[in-house]
Amino acid sequence: MTRTRSFRPQRRPSAGSKGASPDLEAIVREAAQSRARRQQGYRARSLEMHGWICGRCAREFEADNLQLLTVHHRDGNHRYNPPDGSNWENLCVDCHEAEHTVEQLADYLSGPDRGDKR
Ligand SMILES: [Zn+2]
Ligand SMILES: [Zn+2]
Repeated sequence: MTRTRSFRPQRRPSAGSKGASPDLEAIVREAAQSRARRQQGYRARSLEMHGWICGRCAREFEADNLQLLTVHHRDGNHRYNPPDGSNWENLCVDCHEAEHTVEQLADYLSGPDRGDKR
């Protein structure tokens, strides 16, 4: 008796565990919310620590124009938020913009294209 080759495909062990719930959307939404909350958190803390005043031009702010006072990260890393506030600097939007323009210029000047010989 010759056994016919029974060509059984191996059962995949993880078949049928498709939990297609729409939870991903909720997770994404919650992540965005918690990020916004965290940003709110450090901004409020930085304003509290450093005062409602621009660290560059010393412009002072009040509750009705406080949205123009932003928090700059000294090392450029928005995820580095030490509780002692050492990475934060309160800058008005003008100074903040200038700060980043300078950084971009510095990046540009020290960029990888600099090695051309004359
Ligand atoms: Zn300023
Ligand atoms: Zn900044």
